[in-house]
Parts: sequence; structure tokens; C-alpha cells
Amino acid sequence: MIALDSPVGAVLGASKSAEKFTKGLGLSTVGDLLRHFPRRYLNTADLTKVDELREGDYLTVVGEIVRSEVKEYTDRRTGRRAARLETVLGTDGPRLQMTFFAKNPRVTHWQARRLASGTRGVFMGKVGSFRGTWQLTNPQLVLFGDADADDGEAAEAMMTVEELTALFPIYPLTAGLESWEVMRAVRFARTVVDEVPEVVPESIRTSYGVIGAREAFDWIHAPDDWAQVKAAQRRFRFEEALVLQTVLARRRQFARTIGAVPRTGGGDLLARFDERLPFALTVGQDSIGADIERDLAQPHPMNRLLQGEVGSGKTVVALRAMLRVVDSGGQAALLAPTEVLAQQHYRSITAMLGDLAGGGLFSDGTGVELLTGSMTKSQRTGPLSRLVTGEAGIVVGTHALLEDQVQFFDLGLVVVDEQHRFGVEQRAALTDKAGTPPHVLVMTATPIPRTVAMTVFGDLEVSTLTELPAGRAPIQTSLVPLAEHPQWQGRVWERVREEVAKGSQAYVVAPRISGDEHEQGESDAVDRDEEGNVLATPGSLSAVVDVAEQLADGPLHGLRVGLLHGKLPPDEKDRTMRAFAAGEIDVLVSTTVIEVGVDVANATAMVILDADRFGVSQLHQLRGRVGRGGLPGLCLLVTHAELGSPARARLEAVAGTNDGFALSQVDLELRREGDILGASQSGRFSSLQNLRVLRDERTIVDARAAAATLLDNDPDLAGAPELAHMVGEIERTEGAQFLERS
Ligand code: ADP
Ligand code: MG
Repeated sequence: MIALDSPVGAVLGASKSAEKFTKGLGLSTVGDLLRHFPRRYLNTADLTKVDELREGDYLTVVGEIVRSEVKEYTDRRTGRRAARLETVLGTDGPRLQMTFFAKNPRVTHWQARRLASGTRGVFMGKVGSFRGTWQLTNPQLVLFGDADADDGEAAEAMMTVEELTALFPIYPLTAGLESWEVMRAVRFARTVVDEVPEVVPESIRTSYGVIGAREAFDWIHAPDDWAQVKAAQRRFRFEEALVLQTVLARRRQFARTIGAVPRTGGGDLLARFDERLPFALTVGQDSIGADIERDLAQPHPMNRLLQGEVGSGKTVVALRAMLRVVDSGGQAALLAPTEVLAQQHYRSITAMLGDLAGGGLFSDGTGVELLTGSMTKSQRTGPLSRLVTGEAGIVVGTHALLEDQVQFFDLGLVVVDEQHRFGVEQRAALTDKAGTPPHVLVMTATPIPRTVAMTVFGDLEVSTLTELPAGRAPIQTSLVPLAEHPQWQGRVWERVREEVAKGSQAYVVAPRISGDEHEQGESDAVDRDEEGNVLATPGSLSAVVDVAEQLADGPLHGLRVGLLHGKLPPDEKDRTMRAFAAGEIDVLVSTTVIEVGVDVANATAMVILDADRFGVSQLHQLRGRVGRGGLPGLCLLVTHAELGSPARARLEAVAGTNDGFALSQVDLELRREGDILGASQSGRFSSLQNLRVLRDERTIVDARAAAATLLDNDPDLAGAPELAHMVGEIERTEGAQFLERS
């Protein structure tokens, strides 16, 4: 009997090509083979007649290679030896030239063997004409084999045109394996597998219009039409979402049984803090504050995400939550992603608290400590001991807070700033430091799409600050398109001088640290497509080290120019930030280290060089650094991006609105899934097969409802044994730790 968990050899036999499936594609069971889905389908109804071709047409044609030749040459740009494959394709009509370029000459030679003369197949691509001959460059292809192969095995192994189904599946391949070989193996597997377990219970399938497993396998591998492809894809996505949502729903169920210490107040620190606040809370701050107070009073851990764009007043909300916990006799920790941010938070929290910050026997406030990686052992001794004794109610720190020697008297609340830069592991490490699970508040300025909150952060409640505090001066953002107006660069530096002359300060942001460093700068400010290819051609990007020097000697001569980037020693970074905050530096040239949270009220202008290298949300965050002190802010986006290019369009979007949430929508449409999930994704999500949290919102929402219904009616999933089995697997492999920690 052959089942999905039978070894793949059960259907492949022990041939040489079996190894290509197991080693090359990494398929070990029959189920793996069946879940090796086509990447796309070739619509053979669209086969083009070559004699009706027009330049630029998208061509799909059956043909046979009649000539194939590797041409070696020297790449003029890189000076390296390169090779291209030039072939001639015979078709029903005129012949076509096909040229294959590859970065690596070895790939070209491999292609040459694969596309030897006599090879037949289907070729697809955009047609161009060159000296009167039709030409395809790097076409996609499905090969049938060699028509003239004289050894019997090869001839038998060849695909025939009859096998070219209406929608011919094109599979992800490995060297030496062709799509039709996979198609055949899968077809055989589908016929010999006795039973396909059904993970999605019938009642759910009926309610949500989802087809059965067996049918889905048939339709995804051998569809009659696009409707079948769609139905099969929907089924597999739904199945994946259902398993995931069932795991999450069970966690939520379980979380309700976990105990936490209710923090219901008692002290009057929060009240005294509110009294001395120089402004009234916004409606949002007020009501989210009430939600948090309610959460903190529960005997279960709070798990709340606080999102709101830069300057919306998240820090005040978080500090009030911390004071509430201190009022209840507990301690609060604020975890920041970088040293600069931790210091900044520490400064702004102590400043906001005023004389309420300060521990000790006769104080009526609470101790506020800073703990970062750059502090020496002896510098840490004091803070560490005040945390153990409980003398300090609040600690702000970086990853250093996660180290073993950090111990708390009674950690009641963990605030995580910019969650997506922290791994799940790290959050758990801090959670472990509390005797009982602490309450958790996560702050982010990057709005998280609903489905991501539902999946990656499956157990987080979401609060959103939608309004900015009143009285904030608007930021004026302008594009400086050097492609059309190279001379405007000079004007940019004049503007900066004008701001400084008024007594204000300015930032200059550039994507790289120094000119001799490769591709990546501080952040990965490089656009990539789905497959990770760099979209924009890497030219010479502005680097802060060079820019700072050139400005100080040139257009900003006489001004005090500072330099900040992530590779500087931490104490130097801190010194520079302090000097800038104190007004001792006029112009700070920096990488994106200043992106989040940095708060210098006197900074009114920001110049972003090679602005097209930054993401939409990142630009929005960056410009949020200016215009914070009641003076209007100015942001200049300097770019070489051409008019009409996608990069230029993104910059226009940023210049066009100050609404961070609208921009995040633009951003989401442009960013890759992985970037959105960021570092916070656990293994489970990086291994998503068919599901895409952005594209499949509807499916995820449906699956979430389905999972809830299922568990309500049947908490042990007795009626859905296959689903229970898969959920159990996940819970065993990664859930164990989670359950202890959640
Ligand atoms: P975020 O952390 O969301 O970027 P902050 O909490 O740092 O925002 O607030 C930004 C600035 O706005 C700070 O200077 C803060 O003191 C001020 N602020 C916060 N809430 C209010 C309010 N309700 N009214 C006026 N100013 C506020
Ligand atoms: Mg802040």
C-alpha cells in the first residue's frame, strides 16, 4: 500500500533520476512529491504562429534546436570572461534566434548541453527582431528531449507532444531534471496512492467552498482549466491557514488558563505623573491607557500591540503603563532595539518623570536605570543590584537586558519597542526573567497588517493611535530630482545653511557608511524583487563618511558637521547624539541609525540622499525626526531616479502625504512578504508553503473563523483526526517552549 508518508522511492524506483528528486529537490516522501506544486502553467492554447509575429509579442512556440553554439567574450563592463549561448530554433514557420545569457559561464555551458541540437521543447518569451531575424533572449522553456537520441532509454524517456496538456505544469526543477519528468512521476504517484488523508473536515469544506484533498492534488498537477487551478490553490492555502489558525486558537484557549499577577495600582505615582504632564492626553492615548489598565488588572498576561506613527505619543502611553505597574509594587522593563534608542528612551523617560525619577529610601518616586551592552561591568553593578532589590522600578535597555545576570525583584511588565527587530526568542528570554509571566506591551511605528497581527502575532490585541497630538507643525517634503535638475543639489545645501542660520539644526541621511563598503549599508536599503534580485542598479551610493567630509570642506564649510553610523564605537555614538541634542553640532550626517525614536526638537530639516534606496515607511519614519519642536519641518528627498520610474513614484507618494498609515499601504504593496514578517517570524512562518499573509487575507480570515467554530464544537478535535494530527505535530515541535512561556 502506498501512502503519502511512503518513501518517494516507492513511486520512483531506484533509478538515477530518483536521486534527482531526493537529493536535488529534497523530496523524501510521496507526499512531498505530491506537494511539489507547479510554479506556473504553460497555456498551450496560446501557441503562437511564428509567421504572424510582431515585435514585442509574447511568443510561445514548439520547436527543435537546429544549431547551438557557445560564444566566449570579455564583458566590457566587468572585464571578466563571459559566455553566452546562441541557438537557432526550427519551428513550423520561420526560424528564430535564441540567445541565453548567464552571469556564470558554467551555467552557459550547462545550458549548452541541455539545449544541444536536436532538443525539442516549448519556448516562451518576448520576441524582438534583430537584422531581420526574430529573436528571443533568455526564453523560458519546457524541454521534451532529443528526437534523434539513439539509445533506447533516452528515446523512451522523451516527452511527446501528445503529453502537452492544455495547461502544462511547469515545476521548480533541479539540474538534470526536466518539468515533464516531474509531471510523469507525479502522475504515477497520483494513480498509485491509495488514500489521501483529508485535513479539512467536510462541514468546513461545505461552509467555505473548499474542494477535497484528492481532487485538489489532481487539479493542481493536471488541471483542465484555470478554474481548477484556482480551486486547488485555494484548497491548499485554506488547509495551511486552517492548521495555523487552529494552533493559534488553541494557544489563545491555553493563554486564558495562564496566570499572571494582576497589577491593580495602589501607589500614586501615575496620578502624580498625570498631574504634571504639560499637555492633555489625546483621546486615543486616554482610551488605550484605559484598555491597558484593564488588561493589567487581569489575572492573565496582557499581550498588546500599540501601533501609531512616529510622534503619535506611544512613549507616553507606555510610560503610564509602566508607572501603573510600579504603583502596584512591580517593575517594568523597556527593551529597545539599539543602543542609541535605549539611551534616548532613558533620557526622555527621566526627563518626563522629573523628580519622580529617583529611587532610594526617602524618595517618593522610583529608580530608573539604563542597561546597555557598552556599559562596563562596574558600570552595571549599581543598576543590577537596584533591579534585584526592587529599588529601581523601571529599566531601559538593549539586548543586554536579556543576559543571565540581569535579575528582577518582581518584573511585571515588559515593553518592547519596535518589536519586529526582536526575535521571538529574545522576547521569551525576558519573559523568563519574571517568576510568573509578565504583561507585555509591544510598540511599533510600522503598522502591521491585520492578517500579520492574526498570524505572526496571533495572540496580540492591537491598539492604534490614529491622531497626532495637537499643535504639531507639519512637515513639508519635497523631491529633488537630480536626473532632470542636477544643479538643484547646490540649492539643497543652501537651504540647510538657511536653517542653521535661523538657529535650527539639520540631518543629512545617506544609505551607506563608507565608499569602500559593498552592497549593504546600515539597513538593507536596496530594493529587491520577489526572488531577491536587486532592482535598482547599484551605482555609487552616497556614503556618510564621504558626505560628511565633503560637506564640511565644501558647501557646509564653517558649520559644525557631525557623523553618526552604526560602526562607530557606542560611546562615540552616544557622545555625538548628545552633542547634537545639546545643539553643539549643526548638521548631523548619519545612516538610518537615527531612524526610530530619536528626538531633537531643534532639528527642522532633513536631507535624504539617494532617497530611492529607502523604503516608503522608512522614509516616513526618518522625516518624523524633524518638526518635533513646534517649528515646521522640511524634508528634501534627493534622488537620481528617473521621472516615471517606480522608485520615483514611491518618492512622490512620500512627498505627497504625511499620512503614515496611507503610506504603509503603499509600502505593503511594494515590499516582499519576508520583510514584513521581519525577524519576528518563527520557523513556522518562514516555512509557509502556499499561504501569503498579505495576498491571502480572505483565506486567513475564513480559516480563523473555521478554526474557532471547530474548537467550540469539538475542543479535542475528535471529529477531525487528520487536522488534530497536524496541529499536534506543530505543537510538539515548537509549541512546547511556547506554552511554557506564553
Ligand atoms: P512616539 O513614541 O509615538 O513617536 P512620543 O511618545 O515620543 O511619540 O511623543 C512625541 C512627542 O509628542 C513627545 O515630545 C511627547 O512629549 C509629545 N506628546 C505626546 N503626547 C502628547 C499630547 N497628548 N499632547 C502634546 N504632546 C504630546
Ligand atoms: Mg517614541
